[in-house]
Amino acid sequence: MILDEIKQELPKDAMITEVIYEGSEIILYTENKDFFRKCTPEIKRIVNKVKKRIEVRADPSLIVGEEETEEFIRNSVPKDAVIKDIYFEPEFAKVVIHAEKPGLVIGKSGETLNLIKEKTFWTPDIKRAPVIDSEIIKSIRKMLHNEVDYRKKFLNKLGEKIYSESKEVEWIRLTALGGFREVGRSCILLQTPQSRVLMDCGFATGSGLSKPFPYLDVSEFNIQTLDAVILSHAHSDHSGVVPFLYEFGFRGPLYCTRPTRDLAALLQLDYIQICHRENRKPFYTSKGIEEMIKHCVTPEYGEVTDITPDMRLTLQNAGHLLGSSVVHVHIGDGLYNLLYTGDVKFEPTRMFEPTSHDFTRVEAVIIESTYGSEESVHQPRQEAERTLLDSSRRCLARGGKVIIPTFAVGRGQDVITIFADSDIDAAIYLDGMVWDATAIHTAYPEFMSKYMQTRILHRSKNPFIDPRLRGIGSQKEREKVLQSSEPAVILTTSGMLQGGPIMEYLKEFSSDAKNMLVFVGYQAEGTPGRRIQKGWKQIQLENGRVIDLNLEIVTIEGLSGHSDFMQLMNYISHLSSRPKKIMVNHGDAARCVSLARAVHKAFKVETLAPKNLETIRLR
Ligand SMILES: [Zn+2]
Ligand SMILES: [Zn+2]
Repeated sequence: MILDEIKQELPKDAMITEVIYEGSEIILYTENKDFFRKCTPEIKRIVNKVKKRIEVRADPSLIVGEEETEEFIRNSVPKDAVIKDIYFEPEFAKVVIHAEKPGLVIGKSGETLNLIKEKTFWTPDIKRAPVIDSEIIKSIRKMLHNEVDYRKKFLNKLGEKIYSESKEVEWIRLTALGGFREVGRSCILLQTPQSRVLMDCGFATGSGLSKPFPYLDVSEFNIQTLDAVILSHAHSDHSGVVPFLYEFGFRGPLYCTRPTRDLAALLQLDYIQICHRENRKPFYTSKGIEEMIKHCVTPEYGEVTDITPDMRLTLQNAGHLLGSSVVHVHIGDGLYNLLYTGDVKFEPTRMFEPTSHDFTRVEAVIIESTYGSEESVHQPRQEAERTLLDSSRRCLARGGKVIIPTFAVGRGQDVITIFADSDIDAAIYLDGMVWDATAIHTAYPEFMSKYMQTRILHRSKNPFIDPRLRGIGSQKEREKVLQSSEPAVILTTSGMLQGGPIMEYLKEFSSDAKNMLVFVGYQAEGTPGRRIQKGWKQIQLENGRVIDLNLEIVTIEGLSGHSDFMQLMNYISHLSSRPKKIMVNHGDAARCVSLARAVHKAFKVETLAPKNLETIRLR
């Protein structure tokens, strides 16, 4: 057993009072003050030997009182750090500190942090307070705090399961449950004799709403025996059905990054609200979302995490969205490695570095193909940005409104940064969810490009608090914009014109030719957005009324968060390990097949464009 192995490595006087799992991490509680203060090199040595993450915390008997500790922290941390909140989690011997500048709480080479540890014996856990207040981040953090007792038990049980004896991996197979030869309801079941893991579980977008779910009714899938779910990113075609799993009894872990957790919860809550507004019954309630959040395990990019006795997970930057990840699963001890790209952008953008491609070994890849056919060539990014600004200037100069339908999460923030860097002299309105999602971005600069990090860390250059930006949070505020004759830019949902506040703006502004509708993101087949791109001059409102579209329509392709054909091919050629098998998903049928064919021709490897419900044996 791993715990016995660690105990043997520890010095005799370590005075360990408790050894406990927190997921795949192993926590040692010590009663020895000196050992707690000086154990870092010793623990590093053991970590190298056993290849597991280990943390040492102080036994409750050593810990200084909460009031005294809080006072000490407030006196030792420089004021510039702007501490927003301090609270205690005695179950984990942790003190959580929320600050606008976490770097200043940590101090030069960890000086301040160590001082807090050495003097108070609490283990500080420092979190960035978003510069824009975010209700969703506040309530998630509060909930995790309230559930700390449950979390401790859950994580310990999870660790016991992960570290139970691993059996021989006789076979590995995956089943396509959704998102193959289509865009939407992405879902893949990965199985070995010992493990059953789901990668993504999303809703269908576009016209397929009669069948929005992945095929969860197949015999391979059983919610009772499911070990874990991995979430590549927050978009609802990947995350939309996850709360449904929890509502129907799943109590295993959800692995994703912290921004993915927060953004997914935001989108899922919005889905419930939309259903209520439209008098539809949602597929889950907020209870499902709460359970999901309670069971989240959130590794950092690059952190290797054991998730079952025979599977090890690493999430790396996907460049597609805040917190978006490519998913690398190592199976068996050195046996097989699978890379699932989720959605990827293999090109530097303002917001993100290009997709990570550095993996020691990859035997098989599942790659998206949203733009997977050869004729899919995106306009170069700089050109696309110029088109966006030039078109907007043209419209504003004639006194018009620039209406930009966008996903709340992703493109919205991309467009904000482009406007923030421009000389455009007009109000930029962010309706509802676009504003909420922007607030979440300000809490996680470390998940963005170097360029954005430096800008966000200098308040005056932070594009998300540019003085031209105005959040619209209520119908009253929206009415004001609808009635105003001032030229303005409006960013609003839904991105493909399937309802949402965009419809109100269209109702008011679409008849006037001086206004403009600018598409900046992917429009799925069957959506009103796609129809308008194809030349339809009318749109139906929710009440059935049809309105004419006289406003100017502009489509900008180059701002996509997805890779175009060449970027997908480049990504495969840049992978540091050449895979033997490449499977294509997340594209309409023609594009999946087309990318599979092109990859086979270029790289001479086996390629597949599986259909939903197909099972592929990897070994
Ligand atoms: Zn996506
Ligand atoms: Zn997607």
